[in-house]
Amino acid sequence: MTVGAVEAGGTKFVCALARVDTADPSKLPELLAEESVPTGAPGPTLDIVRRFFESAGARHGAAEAFGIGCFGPIDPVPGSPSWGRILATPKKGWIGTDVAGFFQGSFGKPVAFDTDVNAAALGERLWGAARGVESFIYLTVGTGIGGGAFVEGRLLHGASHPEMGHIRLCRAPDDAFEGACPFHGTCFEGLASGPAIEKRWGKKGTELGPEHPAWELEAHYLAQGVASLCLALAPELFILGGGVGGRPDLLRRTRELLPAALGGYRRDVNTTAEASRLLVAPGLGTRSGILGAAGLAALSNDPGFA
Ligand code: ZN
Repeated sequence: MTVGAVEAGGTKFVCALARVDTADPSKLPELLAEESVPTGAPGPTLDIVRRFFESAGARHGAAEAFGIGCFGPIDPVPGSPSWGRILATPKKGWIGTDVAGFFQGSFGKPVAFDTDVNAAALGERLWGAARGVESFIYLTVGTGIGGGAFVEGRLLHGASHPEMGHIRLCRAPDDAFEGACPFHGTCFEGLASGPAIEKRWGKKGTELGPEHPAWELEAHYLAQGVASLCLALAPELFILGGGVGGRPDLLRRTRELLPAALGGYRRDVNTTAEASRLLVAPGLGTRSGILGAAGLAALSNDPGFA
């Protein structure tokens, strides 16, 4: 089937028209057309997105369903009055925006709507590092920190969706940083997101060399956050992605610190080698989210897909 996939982020909307092989879910979707749209005000941004799908659909065949992985917080609960909308995001112009309704209204096709990180988790489960894994977490560390969980064979939603980036961490003994989260100060995101690194050190992470002390501290917080989430959900695999989390040197350091952070409470993670089997990079690189959005559309069409 032909699907419209959208990875709706705070800085850009990645849109793709893709063909998904519903008879063979293991096959990577074929991307027919793709465009990246900078995230401006909701109206103009969604207008460009609509025009992309109109013109790509005219060339390749129209999408039969849409899958949207969206920055949050959002309401992903079908039947809820605010389903499909963005809720109290720090990105102020977008609060209350009816993203899913926009697609329903523009194209009259079914719309699957979930968090960006649940979409990415689904992408990894279908075609990436988590193929065949029944319980795992996908965590992105970049502009913010967010996690999607696949638990015993399905995406975890609960009352709405988890907010793994806003759990509390213990501050490192020599870290006096006040935190960067407008809601909680020194939560996981407030201590370890890209903006937290920039606020603490006065420079963007991309400007800090691999030996800068920022990275040892960052690894300390990532190990603590990963350990806390592992203790809560007991994942078989933990995928770490995002602009910050995707740095190979940071993955290495975090693996080294993870056994101590777990303190013996994961019998399968007592050494760096064992931590390296649990904590891995995304199998799809930076493509987990957009491919997972295509997966969301296919999954809503056929619950047996995956
Ligand atoms: Zn927070």
